[in-house]
Amino acid sequence: MKFLQIPDGLKTKALEIADELGDVVISCESCYGSCDIREDEAKLLGCDEIVHYGHSKMIDSDIKVEYVEKRESYDPTEALGKLNIKFNKIGLISAVQFLDSLDIAKKVLGNRAILGGQVLGCDVSNAEKIVDKVDCFLFIGSGKFHAIGVALKTGKPVFILNVEHNRIEEVDVRLFEKQRIAAQVISRDAKVWGILVSTKLGQMNIKLAKQVRDKLKPKKSYILSMDEIRPEKLEGIKVDAYVNTACPRIAIENRTDFGKPILNPDEI
Ligand code: SF4
Repeated sequence: MKFLQIPDGLKTKALEIADELGDVVISCESCYGSCDIREDEAKLLGCDEIVHYGHSKMIDSDIKVEYVEKRESYDPTEALGKLNIKFNKIGLISAVQFLDSLDIAKKVLGNRAILGGQVLGCDVSNAEKIVDKVDCFLFIGSGKFHAIGVALKTGKPVFILNVEHNRIEEVDVRLFEKQRIAAQVISRDAKVWGILVSTKLGQMNIKLAKQVRDKLKPKKSYILSMDEIRPEKLEGIKVDAYVNTACPRIAIENRTDFGKPILNPDEI
C-alpha cells in the first residue's frame, strides 16, 4: 500500500491522484516541503512506499519515496517584454514547477541572463553559486518565500515574475529585517529560553538544539519538541524567548505570531 503526501495547494486533486495510484492512504497533514517525509506514519499504517507530490528530493529516508515534481508549462516571454529594471546581469532562478520556464527566459534575455536553477525550499545554493556574477535575481514562480530567502541570503535585489498575475515585482525584505532586529533587541533581556525542535524527518536537528543550549549558557533553556511548530502549542510554557532550529521560514515569515521574540540560530 502507498502513502500519499500532497501540498495543501494540490489537495483538490488528491482523489484523482489516489485513483491513479490504486491502493493508497491519503495523508491530510500539511506538507510544506520535501523535508517533511512522514515515514513513521506511513510505516504505522502498513505502507511500504511514500508518493510525495510537488517537491523534489532533499533527504534520504528508510522507506522508498517516489517524488512527483509536477512541472507547469508557463511562457514568461510576454511578462519579460515589459521588464524594466536598471540592473544588467540577471540571475534566473525558480521553484521546481517552473524550471522549464527558465530556459525560455534565458533565450528572451540573452547575455543579460545567467542561469542559476532551482531554489529548493530553504536551499538557495543555486542562487549563491552565481551571486558574484549577477546584479540581481529574477525568480519565476508564485508566492514570495523562495525569493525572500534568496534576498536575505545573498543581499542582492530580487524580482519575482509572478506567474499567476504575469507581472514582475520587486521583493522588499526591509520589514523582515526590522522584525529580526526587534526580536534580537528584545530577547537580550530573556532569562529563560525555549529551543524549538521539529520531529519532521528533514527538519529535526537535536544536535543543533544542544549546541544552541550550550551557547545560551548560563541562561536557562529548555528543548521543546513538536511536529509542526505552531505558536498555540507553546501556550502555557513560561519562557521569555525562543530559538527555532526547524524550518527557517517559521521565524522569518511568522515571527510576530509567537507573542515572544523568536530567532533562528544564526540570529542569536
Ligand atoms: S525546512 Fe522549510 S523552507 Fe526548508 S524545505 Fe522544509 S518547509 Fe521548505
